[in-house]
Amino acid sequence: MSLVIPCYNEEEVLPELRRRLQDLVAQYSFPIEVVLIDDGSKDNTWPLICSYAREDGFIKAVRLARNFGHQTAITCGLDQTKGEVVVILDADLQDPPELIPEMLKDWSDGYDVVYGQRRQRHGESLSKKFFAFAFYRIFEKVAGLKVPRDTGDFRLMDRRAVNALQSLRERHRFVRGMVSWIGHHQKALQYDRPERFAGVTKYPFRKSLFLAIDAITSFTYAPLRVASYLGVATSVLAFLYIFVILVLKVMGINFPGYTSIMASILLLGGVQLTVLGILGEYVGRIFEQGQNRPLYLVDQVQGEPLENANHGRQQKAS
Ligand code: UDP
Ligand code: MG
Repeated sequence: MSLVIPCYNEEEVLPELRRRLQDLVAQYSFPIEVVLIDDGSKDNTWPLICSYAREDGFIKAVRLARNFGHQTAITCGLDQTKGEVVVILDADLQDPPELIPEMLKDWSDGYDVVYGQRRQRHGESLSKKFFAFAFYRIFEKVAGLKVPRDTGDFRLMDRRAVNALQSLRERHRFVRGMVSWIGHHQKALQYDRPERFAGVTKYPFRKSLFLAIDAITSFTYAPLRVASYLGVATSVLAFLYIFVILVLKVMGINFPGYTSIMASILLLGGVQLTVLGILGEYVGRIFEQGQNRPLYLVDQVQGEPLENANHGRQQKAS
């Protein structure tokens, strides 16, 4: 089994995370690796996880060359794993490692993906809860893809599902959406999401908003259709309006024009710029995808827990 844990400035939670992981690993006799990804942290995260990797045989520490963002750090982690089954969790212990045995049970019942679904969210601001609530419902409507509501990236995946996910090399990644996209047999595991163990959230509103935009633009071009709808609606209204003012003019009623002209120029200018902006979001993504740069760069790796454990995996896979 492999665990993937992205860490960005998480020095306060790491000692407790390590303790809880040690407890988990001690329960099992099969080989386990924990891949800790340092996503370009500026605090002591790297020296800490590096020393863990030296002391605990089951830890592999990977340092990215800079901060590439949570979704990319997860992708890097998955690329590094060797396990037959892989679990992604957050470093802040909001995804309790103690749930992994339950997930494993579902996996042995034949599910390829077991995702954690939040029954309740503790310690999150009202605005974040509202934003998350609204996002999942809007996403499902516009993208036409059912991403289970109120899930994060906490999930167990079979090797088959990991390979499928890793074959999608798009630059702007919304991992939980991509996991829904690959299909296979998926199951929800309900849990109450505890508060962050220590430290502050690494997802300020700005980052959450960008993730939401990435999610929408990488799964649907519905926003581009808004331009067509707006265009048709504006044209219909314009024809009606022209008809009315022509009739009034024939009847000898004429309005001085400054106010109405300014109003229509400003309104149409605003709408056009907004639509151009939406178009730009897509063009920018095509540009970045076309550049075909690697998704991330690795700076250093410490430890290789499953180096000799491949034998068992190959046996099971064959
Ligand atoms: N994280 C990361 N890179 C980033 C931001 C966050 O690797 O640029 C990691 C972070 O260390 C944590 C996980 O992503 O393990 C989720 O972040 P956080 O708990 O702050 O998000 P929240 O639970 O508040 O949504
Ligand atoms: Mg968190």
